[in-house]
Amino acid sequence: MPAAPAYSKPVPVPDPDSRPFWEGCRQGRLLIQRCRACGQHQFPPGNVCSSCRSDQIEWTQTSGRGTVFSWIVVVHPVPKPVYEKDVPYVVALVDLEEGVRMPTNIVGCDGDRIVAGMPVKVFFDRVDDDVVLPRFRPDD
Ligand code: ZN
Repeated sequence: MPAAPAYSKPVPVPDPDSRPFWEGCRQGRLLIQRCRACGQHQFPPGNVCSSCRSDQIEWTQTSGRGTVFSWIVVVHPVPKPVYEKDVPYVVALVDLEEGVRMPTNIVGCDGDRIVAGMPVKVFFDRVDDDVVLPRFRPDD
C-alpha cells in the first residue's frame, strides 16, 4: 500500500488513557469507556470513573450514531494557516447514543443545513499512516 500523503495539521498524541480510543479508530471502531461499578459511559477517557471514581473501567464499542448538540462553522483559518484550504468547515459537539458528548467535525453537509438534534454517524478519516480521526456525517 502506498504511503499516505504527508498530513501537515496537528494530530492527536495518544497518552496512556486515550491510546485505546485512537487504536480503536485505526480499526474502524469508535470506543468509549464504561464503568463496571456504576455503568456510566464516559468520554474523554480517564483512569477512573468521572461519576463514582471507581477504577473498574472498561472499553466498549459505540454504535457510532448520535445527534448534533452544538456546532460552529469556521470561516477564517486562524490560528493555523494550514487550515486555509478547508474553510468553511464545521466543528461540532455530537451526543452519542451512549450518552457522552464528543468534539468532532461534521462533513458532507453545508454548515447552514445543520440543525440541533440532526442524526449523524461516525466515519473514520485516515489522515496519515498512524492517525485515523473519527468524524461524522449526516445519518440519512
Ligand atoms: Zn462509575
